Amino acid sequence: MKRLTILIVLIIPFILCTSWGFFAHQRINNLAIFTLPRGMILFYKKNIKFITEHAVDPDKRRYADTLEAPRHYIDVENYEKNIDSIPEKWNDALARYGQKHLNANGIVPWQIQRTYFSLVKAFANRDSIKILKYSTDLGHYIGDAHVPLHTTANHNGQLTNQVGIHAFWESRLPELFASNYNFVVGKAKYIENPLKEAWKIVKHTHSLADTVLTLEARLAAAFPSDKKYSFSERNNTVLKQYSVEYSKTYHDQMNKMVERQMRAAIIEIGSFWYSAWIDAGQPELKNLVKLEPNPIEKQAAEEAEKKFLQGTVIGREL
Ligand SMILES: [Zn+2]
Repeated sequence: MKRLTILIVLIIPFILCTSWGFFAHQRINNLAIFTLPRGMILFYKKNIKFITEHAVDPDKRRYADTLEAPRHYIDVENYEKNIDSIPEKWNDALARYGQKHLNANGIVPWQIQRTYFSLVKAFANRDSIKILKYSTDLGHYIGDAHVPLHTTANHNGQLTNQVGIHAFWESRLPELFASNYNFVVGKAKYIENPLKEAWKIVKHTHSLADTVLTLEARLAAAFPSDKKYSFSERNNTVLKQYSVEYSKTYHDQMNKMVERQMRAAIIEIGSFWYSAWIDAGQPELKNLVKLEPNPIEKQAAEEAEKKFLQGTVIGREL
């Protein structure tokens, strides 16, 4: 008992300061490769390790770059009451809200479009390193756009006394239950209009936010409070987590929403990669040019890794 008391003092809340958690992002990017057509899949399979491992690079950049955080979310309510009233095009949004408001409240749909164009350019230049970088980044942002709590101002339940729900939904639940998900999603399809598609994704994701929050609030009220969390010891600290029982009940009540969102992210990522390749004129992905990143790019990547290891996010964490 005494030992337990000491340990309780050391309790740190188990919060992963990432989006979808490292596990889910890596899984999603990895599986998107298998949706690709013949002209692409060999190159992506050859680089599967890079695409999987670097799926979380954009989250790491949030430790070094003040402009990175807003690229991962959009707080819809801070723009308009109705999501359909937000101008779809970047320039129209910039004219209406101004850069400062956009940076504070998130820009994920436009970031998807921007990264998409960078990828088209990389394909057109047959620049293997940039193809990999932008494919991986694009996968990350599309993944984030499928997380309901990345589309609401109440992004961590902080407005409704549900703090912790963000990592609970996007990290804890996939880590516990993804091994039972069906990830056969079919083949990538051509996307006519990447910006419209990005908005289609975000609008659907946002429509789920209320369910995500309401179900958890109801469950928290009904569930025995001493069974809500579990505690486990790791490296002399106690991790506080949502208990498996609580997680399972919530997960069941959402009726496969997490699985559907992960599946949707996988097929969308494959389709965006495929479309970028088509738009670049279907370049042959053999014997690509290998341009080393320039010193500034290299330094920025090293800096991000270093700051990430030090561990303080600049701007919003979730
Ligand atoms: Zn993210």
